[in-house]
Amino acid sequence: MSTIDLNQLVTWRRELHRFPEIGWTEFMTTARLITELRGMGLDVIAGPKVINREFVRGRKADVVERGLALARERGADEALLAEMDGLTGCMAVFDSGKPGPTVALRFDIDCVAVQECAAGDHIPNSGDFASKSAGLMHACGHDGHMSIGLGIAKWLVENGSSLSGKVKLLFQPAEEGVRGARPMAESGIVDDADYFLGMHIGFIAKTGEIVINPNNFLCTTKYDFRFYGAPAHAGAEPHLGRNALAGACHAATQMLGISRHGKGMSRINVGVIRAGEGRNVVPSYGELQVEVRGEDESINSFMAEQVERMAKGAAQSFDLRLESEVMGEAVDLQNDQELIDVLTSVVGQYPELTAVAERSFGGSEDATVLAKRVQRHGGKSIYFIVGADLKAGHHQAEFDFDEKQLKTSVELFVGCLQKLMTK
Ligand SMILES: [Zn+2]
Repeated sequence: MSTIDLNQLVTWRRELHRFPEIGWTEFMTTARLITELRGMGLDVIAGPKVINREFVRGRKADVVERGLALARERGADEALLAEMDGLTGCMAVFDSGKPGPTVALRFDIDCVAVQECAAGDHIPNSGDFASKSAGLMHACGHDGHMSIGLGIAKWLVENGSSLSGKVKLLFQPAEEGVRGARPMAESGIVDDADYFLGMHIGFIAKTGEIVINPNNFLCTTKYDFRFYGAPAHAGAEPHLGRNALAGACHAATQMLGISRHGKGMSRINVGVIRAGEGRNVVPSYGELQVEVRGEDESINSFMAEQVERMAKGAAQSFDLRLESEVMGEAVDLQNDQELIDVLTSVVGQYPELTAVAERSFGGSEDATVLAKRVQRHGGKSIYFIVGADLKAGHHQAEFDFDEKQLKTSVELFVGCLQKLMTK
């Protein structure tokens, strides 16, 4: 039934695996995607057309500069870089030319800051497609996700005349740290979507298992708090200093003492504290990297409001100037029954696949931000997991997945498109 070529999917995945790029620096990756998708004849928009700059989270200028320089060194197309205008990610649109629903599919494109393992039996080494960038690796399977997106694009170009409506293929930057989805949602590109589908390979499922309805997505907000004080000689003029280290420490201990929420799961972590110049100097700068999580948006907001107030309070106590920055965010998600039914019946067409109705996800994923945006506009959303036997857990140096499941994934998306877009 299918014209989906596993070899092509594996080739794309391996090419993308070789050149991993960390969130907001996916310049080579975006250029590669645009070239491939335009080569198929699809309309593609990129950069500021798919990312609302005002809502960009967790984008560090120095990291982006280094990423851009490396992309240029590796020969990235200047015209495409100009089109991106500093913002990575793109969207391809397939229009059947016939009236029908608009279906948005989302694939994430960034890598993880992990040094790929050097062992000879690690398939990316034996297959000669290991990461060419020290300290960076596609260790979460997003190389696979992009390959799946390209596979669907190719199928649409070859077979899409049987469908009615439009398909929007979103290639989202900076999923790690849950940073890229909000600015993509705020660009408005999914506001006309009747359906939204997203997926992840691996995680909580083995090859053959499709988790239709992963639950327990944790809402989360990530913060950087920066406290600015005044330096002073700690012996001669301590009274002239304003101690940013003390402010950051007080904020940290207060945050860790936030009451748990009675209505559901909540989390707080102060992961980084950085302050201090030398033993005899009153520290003028202190920084906290904090995250809160909650089972639903109201619990997460409760946690978020507490940490914001504590940072402000500590700044006031120590007479410090405070800068707060939201570095990332994700929300919870309830899959819509209509799409649960559609996907379940598609999975049912494959005897080698088992539809797992529900299983706990227990992490955060910012596809949920796009999914909820679609739901708020009256559309329907689903996020599911395609099992793929893993060599090691996500974000580990030995991570690798069963590449045959790239084809399974394309087939499932195509099956859903056929059900949603042929009436
Ligand atoms: Zn991932």
